[in-house]
Amino acid sequence: MAKISDILAAGKSWSFEFSPPRTDDAWAQFWPTLDDLAALAPSFFSVTYGAGGSTRDTTRDLVVDINRDRQVTTMAHLTCAAHRRAELEALVSDYRDSGVVENILALGGDPPVGYDGPPGELTYASELVELVCSIGEFSVGVAAHPEPHPRSESVAADRAHTAAKLELADFAITQFFFEAHHYFGLVESLKLLGCAKPVIPGIMPVTSIASIKRMAELQGSEVPVGLTDRLYAAETDGPAAVRDVGIQAATELCEELLAEGVPGLHFFAFNRTTAYAAREIHQNLGL
Ligand code: FAD
Repeated sequence: MAKISDILAAGKSWSFEFSPPRTDDAWAQFWPTLDDLAALAPSFFSVTYGAGGSTRDTTRDLVVDINRDRQVTTMAHLTCAAHRRAELEALVSDYRDSGVVENILALGGDPPVGYDGPPGELTYASELVELVCSIGEFSVGVAAHPEPHPRSESVAADRAHTAAKLELADFAITQFFFEAHHYFGLVESLKLLGCAKPVIPGIMPVTSIASIKRMAELQGSEVPVGLTDRLYAAETDGPAAVRDVGIQAATELCEELLAEGVPGLHFFAFNRTTAYAAREIHQNLGL
């Protein structure tokens, strides 16, 4: 398996992000979907982590198994929220000792819904980057927020924190966005702050109007009127037509990003529905 920093140094990456299944039905679909995407020979996969540890063992087992058995470099996500330092150290040491996990995405995370325990011993993702680097020779990624992060005191403050965090790490992957200028604005600000590390745009395939509105609200991403108009116009022809418009819009966004020389594309595949939408975007782009 490879370090993502080396993959990026060699050329453009393209990757898929999965969430650990939570139901029997989702498990039944997980491996066939993953194998279908693995057949496209992506640069890497990544597996999300339920903040507070709700998917701790499943995320770890999936990341180790995919690296070892599926021969696709797979990155583990890890979050600070609601964790003690010792818990994070134990998990990162576990990854190091597996001998197959070389990449970690270090995140702040959000406390789980309904959680009323202590906030966690580490507050910011930058502290987790330092912890990961102190334990092993990982390639470490961080999140970046083009729009910016909803808890930020200002755009300038978020850009400055992102630049400082990225200086400690190897690369960033962005939150999803629907207009390329948000991504270019982020990269430009980071450059002005002296940070030129690779920032991979995160691409969310829109498969339904309700789900995208909910996710965009949660992440502070703007769904542009032009896109919602196209989606609502398609709605009269049914859910498949909405999905087609979502895939077409994401393909156009990726083409615009690729034309400007982005270091890669990271598709939020999450579940079977978004995974196959991501595969169609990938095919449209002829990657
Ligand atoms: P941080 O970098 O800690 O930033 C959080 C906020 O604090 C920002 O407003 C920032 O400006 C501010 N800040 C940072 N440093 C400082 C400082 N020193 N002083 C003051 N303010 C500061 N969540 C999950 O739970 N599980 C996942 O698997 C997961 N995967 C993700 C994958 C990607 C590609 C992305 C983009 C996000 C993912 N998230 C995931 C969501 C992420 O955890 C949330 O967006 C979270 O709220 C912020 O994470 P962060 O790493 O950006 O946090």
